Amino acid sequence: MEENQLPDPLNGGATRPRDDYLESPDYFMAVAFLSAQRSKDPSSQVGACIVNQENKIVGIGYNCMPNGCDDNLLPWSRSADDPLNTKYFYVCHAELNAIMNKNSADVKGCTMYVALFPCNECAKLIIQAGLKEVVYLSDKYHDKPEMFASRTLLDMAGVKCRQFKPKSSEIVIDFNSINHRGNAGLCHQRGEQLSQADGETPDSAAASMNNS
Ligand SMILES: [Zn+2]
Repeated sequence: MEENQLPDPLNGGATRPRDDYLESPDYFMAVAFLSAQRSKDPSSQVGACIVNQENKIVGIGYNCMPNGCDDNLLPWSRSADDPLNTKYFYVCHAELNAIMNKNSADVKGCTMYVALFPCNECAKLIIQAGLKEVVYLSDKYHDKPEMFASRTLLDMAGVKCRQFKPKSSEIVIDFNSINHRGNAGLCHQRGEQLSQADGETPDSAAASMNNS
């Protein structure tokens, strides 16, 4: 070996890096799903994670009632005789909160990772905030009129929308793993490996990530 030359890692000269680490897109979507666990909404927990052009997280949010508004007094119902007794007039969606929680001057040119395709109200916010891309996992409300309006707006404004296919259906956080040497680390992925060919739908993947 010549002087000042690093050993060849493929030749047993050094320990090789892990190859089962969490890749960036899966990490950002997982951050969105972890954030969703903060939601008090009994029927729907949605998270969003905004990433800038340097792949740095600049905003995280989940669906919740507005700041200072008592979530024990406001309704969480999805249906009621009086619409004022449903959550819809009050709740702030994850996308709104992720944008408002930004820790950078703005989110222009950023990408939003979000569990569900954004509604029309969130599409307006995404466009006005200057985001350039939405990466979503589930599109289960695709046929609702607000989703049609959302797609129309995002398309007109040139915001790229892309459905995300996670590498694994499940990511487990094991706090005990830090006490053991040589395992997969704090976060490890398990469950079936997802691919477009195996017939797994993104919705069932979302349900698995949500319910595990
Ligand atoms: Zn929304």
